Amino acid sequence: MIKIKTAAEIELMRESALIVSKTLGMLAKEVKPGVSTLTLDALAESFIRDHGAVPGFLGLYDFPNTLCMSPNAQVVHGIPNNKPLEEGDIISIDCGALKNGFYGDHAYTFEVGSVAPEVKKLLDITKASLYKGIEAFKAGNRVGDVGFAIQEFTEKHGYGVVRELVGHGLGTSMHEDPEMPNYGRRGRGKKFIEGMVVAIEPMTNMGTHRINQLKDGWTILTADGKPSAHFEHNVALVNGKPELLSTFDYVYEALGITSDEEAPFRAAKRSR
Ligand code: MG
Ligand code: MG
Repeated sequence: MIKIKTAAEIELMRESALIVSKTLGMLAKEVKPGVSTLTLDALAESFIRDHGAVPGFLGLYDFPNTLCMSPNAQVVHGIPNNKPLEEGDIISIDCGALKNGFYGDHAYTFEVGSVAPEVKKLLDITKASLYKGIEAFKAGNRVGDVGFAIQEFTEKHGYGVVRELVGHGLGTSMHEDPEMPNYGRRGRGKKFIEGMVVAIEPMTNMGTHRINQLKDGWTILTADGKPSAHFEHNVALVNGKPELLSTFDYVYEALGITSDEEAPFRAAKRSR
């Protein structure tokens, strides 16, 4: 069952989402060769708690850490460890925060130092596909329209769309209805309803869409060992249109990037 949020609840969800956005912005400055994902995890946990929230993933389904840290061929759900990041790596960081009973949950794939042009392209296309999906999250559309938009754009570039892991509704639970696959058929699936909030999160492989899971019971990695990227936003359906609750602005500020990609999806009355 899809749980509809009131305007007041959506504001609380924005608060939770923005704590995650700021955490990713803080991490953007710390991601560099030589730093371990466990060090970054500890920084994130303190940051989230300092902002009056609780790490959303820690203990969820028994996950052991604050961040899912998935370098290179890892797709999602990687567990932080002591291994230092290396120049040319990519690291997908997925972060959750719980405040006022509502979850924020989003992800960004960072470059460690400078990465190969083909890897950079994978990141750019995956992020662009996220906005294709967000664009399709509007009144009159269905779950399949978002999946279709992401899949069509991604496969046009020859990349693999992961099937086994999907986006989801978000609220007082980390994972609510509906499931939001990154593939699909136009006009199929559940219809979008005013006041619903979802996490849209393409997971895109440079090669095959097929994946494996490590024996740790968590880490998902590409079957062919090629890199994978993951970008995620939290979006509410307001006045029939997609409205972003999360933002990559803090990441861009930290990295000195200028972007207007979020402009079409920002809250109408707000200036940031
Ligand atoms: Mg996530
Ligand atoms: Mg998610």
